[in-house]
Amino acid sequence: MLCLSDIYIPSCNMAALKYLKGFGKNFISIQRSATNLKRNVASLNTVQLRFNSSASEETRPEPCQSDSMLDIGTRRIFSEEHDMFRRSVRKFFQERVVPFHTQWEKDGQVSREVWQQAGEQGLLGISTPTEFGGLGGDFLSSAIALEEQGYANASGLGFSLHSDIVMPYLWRYGSKEQIEKYMPIMMNGTCITAIAMTEPSAGSDLQGIKTKAVKDGDDWILNGSKVFITNGYMCDMCVVVAITDGTAKSTSHGISLFLVDADKPGFKKGKKLNKIGAKAQDTAELFFEDVRLPSSALLGKENHGFYYLMQELPRERLLIIIYAQAQAEFMFEETRKYVKERKAFGKTLSNLQTIQHKLAEMKSEIAVGRAFTDMCLDLYNKGELDSSTASIGKYWLSEMQNRIATQCLQLHGGWGYMMEYPIARSFLDARVQPIYGGANEIMKELIARQIIMD
Ligand SMILES: Cc1cc2nc3c(=O)[nH]c(=O)nc-3n(C[C@H](O)[C@H](O)[C@H](O)COP(=O)(O)OP(=O)(O)OC[C@H]3O[C@@H](n4cnc5c(N)ncnc54)[C@H](O)[C@@H]3O)c2cc1C
Repeated sequence: MLCLSDIYIPSCNMAALKYLKGFGKNFISIQRSATNLKRNVASLNTVQLRFNSSASEETRPEPCQSDSMLDIGTRRIFSEEHDMFRRSVRKFFQERVVPFHTQWEKDGQVSREVWQQAGEQGLLGISTPTEFGGLGGDFLSSAIALEEQGYANASGLGFSLHSDIVMPYLWRYGSKEQIEKYMPIMMNGTCITAIAMTEPSAGSDLQGIKTKAVKDGDDWILNGSKVFITNGYMCDMCVVVAITDGTAKSTSHGISLFLVDADKPGFKKGKKLNKIGAKAQDTAELFFEDVRLPSSALLGKENHGFYYLMQELPRERLLIIIYAQAQAEFMFEETRKYVKERKAFGKTLSNLQTIQHKLAEMKSEIAVGRAFTDMCLDLYNKGELDSSTASIGKYWLSEMQNRIATQCLQLHGGWGYMMEYPIARSFLDARVQPIYGGANEIMKELIARQIIMD
């Protein structure tokens, strides 16, 4: 089998590159005809090729080996079934999301219809096991949905928070009654969900929360407030983190999770918060004033909430990694297109060597990011993604996304500063990634803790 990574072009020989491109636009087809390629490229003395022994085996090309990083049919972690799924998701985003996103940004939220359309299309609860009412796909399929959201530049949709963060709390720790109550309506998109940990005075330090649930007979009375809650304004049900034992030896031993319906008396939603980016994503303050909850609203065991949160955090960080990488690829392709069209000094920008070098630097960073991202996806799919590795990825990829955003916007010149260009939205959206899901300073704490551990 021919490894395309083994094709070595010593200098920037555009003729050789063109020849290779002309020879086969699709790298998969190049691999299928390794013998042919051997014969054809033999005449190219600037190109050196190495072949390994297994001529019949096929390898999917990596995005950095493809015409576009957004090409379907790439990456060795995926199969043809994944490609088919990706095609349908891409179509959904192009038809049902992209045309409406600018309006949603003005509204500060997406429509309820798009949630239901996503439910009908099978884009909610993709990797939730069928025994709990989900679609039973693998996590790679969930990743595809989120990547396609990044490729569509559609930050407004809180689908992955709903499907890949809230749903697992429910099916892992919920009672049969809770699963039967919520899963069908979460799957069809009529019950939008959120998770509320952060408070005005406690973000990174979750143990500093003040929201309390106090027992009253069999019921609980919930009081407190939360801030920065994604899907908060639209949510029909919210997983709320509250202190249930103020006398525990540490706060972490006295925290529980509750499933709180939005129509409960005393549950009030504040205004949609006015953010610098992710404008179509609703982010809200939530207030709980003497909200009476039945005992059946407790999720999992009393005072086990902190443990549950810690269990689920690596996956939440992986979602940030996936989106960061997809957005970096999207921004790169937008910019590549732009500099190949934009003229300056009688040529296109892409003819200038400094621009070419900038593109080369960015492509290298993104290609390396893709390798780490796919490694994390593979580890997670096998149940082997640990907290430290997820933290490394969340820290590095979210910062890489911001570096790429800054450089791609710069290459767009003044047009990059205009909201009509997609790069402007990507630039603004990128800024939150190093902040939420555990700020990057906290990621470094977690990485360091593992480094110095005896
Ligand atoms: C758009 C958006 C959506 C969000 N969605 C949700 C959601 O759905 N649910 C939810 O619960 N929360 C959500 N959050 C909250 C988010 O998780 C917090 O903002 C984040 O955890 C940081 O907390 P903080 O804002 O209170 O900052 P702080 O904790 O006050 O930190 C301020 C700064 O100090 C640094 N810092 C803090 N502690 C340390 C330390 N020990 N060492 C070094 N530096 C430190 C931080 O890294 C940060 O740079 C969202 C936030 C945003 C902006």
